[in-house]
Amino acid sequence: MGHAATEPMIFVTGASRSGTTMVTTILDKHSRIAGLREMQFFGEFCDPRRDPPSRRIDARDAIATLFARQERGILAGERGRSSDPDVERLVRELPAEAGAAEIFAATVARFAARAGKAVPCEQTPRNIYYARALLDWYPAARFVHLFRDPRGVMASQKFRWQRRSLMADPSQMSRRQQIRTWVNYHPYTVAQLWNVATGLALELEGHPRVHLLRLEDLLREPEARVRALCEFLGVDFEPAMLDVEHVNSSYVSTREAARGFSLAPIDAWRSKLSTDECALINRRCGRLMKRLGYQPEPATLSRLGAVTFGGRYLLHLLGAALVNPGRLWIQARGVLAAAGGRSRAVQGTVAAASPDSDSDEQNDGHLVRVFGLPCADAPLPAAARDLVACAAAGRPRRVVFVNAHSMNVAARDARLRRALHDADVVYADGVGMAIAARLQGERLRHNVNGTDLFPHLCREAAAAGVPLALLGASPGVTEACVRVLAERHPSLDVAFAHHGYFDESETERIVAALNRSGAGILLVAMGVPRQEIWIMEHAARLEIPVLMGVGGLFDFVSGRVPRAPAAVRRLHLEWLFRLAMEPRRLFGRYVIGNPVFLTRAFRYAVTGQLTSPDSTEATSR
Ligand code: UDP
Repeated sequence: MGHAATEPMIFVTGASRSGTTMVTTILDKHSRIAGLREMQFFGEFCDPRRDPPSRRIDARDAIATLFARQERGILAGERGRSSDPDVERLVRELPAEAGAAEIFAATVARFAARAGKAVPCEQTPRNIYYARALLDWYPAARFVHLFRDPRGVMASQKFRWQRRSLMADPSQMSRRQQIRTWVNYHPYTVAQLWNVATGLALELEGHPRVHLLRLEDLLREPEARVRALCEFLGVDFEPAMLDVEHVNSSYVSTREAARGFSLAPIDAWRSKLSTDECALINRRCGRLMKRLGYQPEPATLSRLGAVTFGGRYLLHLLGAALVNPGRLWIQARGVLAAAGGRSRAVQGTVAAASPDSDSDEQNDGHLVRVFGLPCADAPLPAAARDLVACAAAGRPRRVVFVNAHSMNVAARDARLRRALHDADVVYADGVGMAIAARLQGERLRHNVNGTDLFPHLCREAAAAGVPLALLGASPGVTEACVRVLAERHPSLDVAFAHHGYFDESETERIVAALNRSGAGILLVAMGVPRQEIWIMEHAARLEIPVLMGVGGLFDFVSGRVPRAPAAVRRLHLEWLFRLAMEPRRLFGRYVIGNPVFLTRAFRYAVTGQLTSPDSTEATSR
């Protein structure tokens, strides 16, 4: 790596609207530090979490873009467009093999040199996504991360576009500006972005080259905080640093050119946010707020508020996609990768949830909370190994596969809700659950459904000598299923098989026969919610350790219903295929059920409730 990459440089980060511009302005007053504009380089030209510092990029394009942004700001500076002669000069000076890290470092170093200063200080808030990698890329770089009360962030975001238009009276905004304002701001997005940025910064607490600072502390005691900042950066404190104008503030028009530090931004949210917005923030950000000393105040989300937020969210996504698709995509990638990293870091393993298990058998699965259910996020072979190990050791496990349909049924059926919450092992099945997880700030890496798990389960069970019992599907189907299994897995012992259309009066006989069978795993295929409720009600009397509801599995195994081709499954469109196979039966489940589920997932992310707040059955755990 070239020379510039090892020179000192400063990254100022924070959730957007956390005071990064103010801190950069303060640092720019220092005789050695050059405060630069927002560069938005990382994420766009390279992704330091994935790419090596030597990553090849078009040097001329990158340098010209950085120059344009430094000259005209991120909104006006067009990509690759700058007529500054220094662009060509810098391109020529750089070694031909210069990679992304060096190109960026050399360009910002040039900006600092032009200001007659030694240390460039850049201020892209989202660089916190890349902080860990950038600290490796640049061994002399330092990060200054700003925390701010998320209610302050939200109030500032809400009024940002009014400020940008620089009009004293918002009612003078053009219709287009008003629509843009409205579309760009959504409290849920603000809260999620705050959580991600704050969570990532807290993970860096204690890093010798990272300084964490609360904006509120800086405003209350500027001199002490700026002195501490200088000490961290290894530069002398200079009194000029405290003589800042209120640049880019949402509260004071730039034209007034007010100077000094104002305490107004600390409490301004009180008059600017609605109770619903405060309630949403408390709900989504409460945990990290407390950790940072921002006291959430009690506020309850009204039903109207929840419905309005939900409806507006769709418009917000659509609007953001139309107004600025490129940035939306970079943000989304940054957030999703960060959320994924976090859920891997903070979640326990399946083993941790089952204290009596062999920890090495119970492996690399992680628990990811979706709708409050601890879903085991494990690859299929590992899940099958776990379950067969439990069966072989006689450890009781009630297993449920939860998908969009079962969550919809659970929302109106209290018994199914209980069956899901009381299960020992929960697997998340389908893309709907993956989307819900993301909305709830988590990430599921594996789709564990009964149908895909089954072949693994049969192989493991055959190898371990664990017999299976099949209960469910229509009479001919269960037998056909047994025949297919005998062909595919000759050494597998199917110790019991019975169809699923039996009368209540036959239950005793069936339970007794199951207990005599010596099976280690019982698969119940009677559809949601019947199978889960049946298992819950009879588990205490069943002497089979592993019990699971598997829906239409036997229909697929027997060949009665064809399974979607692998390509369709990879596209997450199996539901569409099933709908085409059985349109009458499945119309309600998919065509109506899928949008209902997405609304439900969003509502849960915002309110923590599975059902609407005044519904009589509403409970969530
Ligand atoms: N079924 C049953 N007993 C009943 C109702 C249904 O055994 O009282 C069977 C049905 O024959 C089918 C399975 O349960 O094999 C349910 O399939 P579905 O496609 O509804 O399950 P999914 O996997 O979609 O939950």
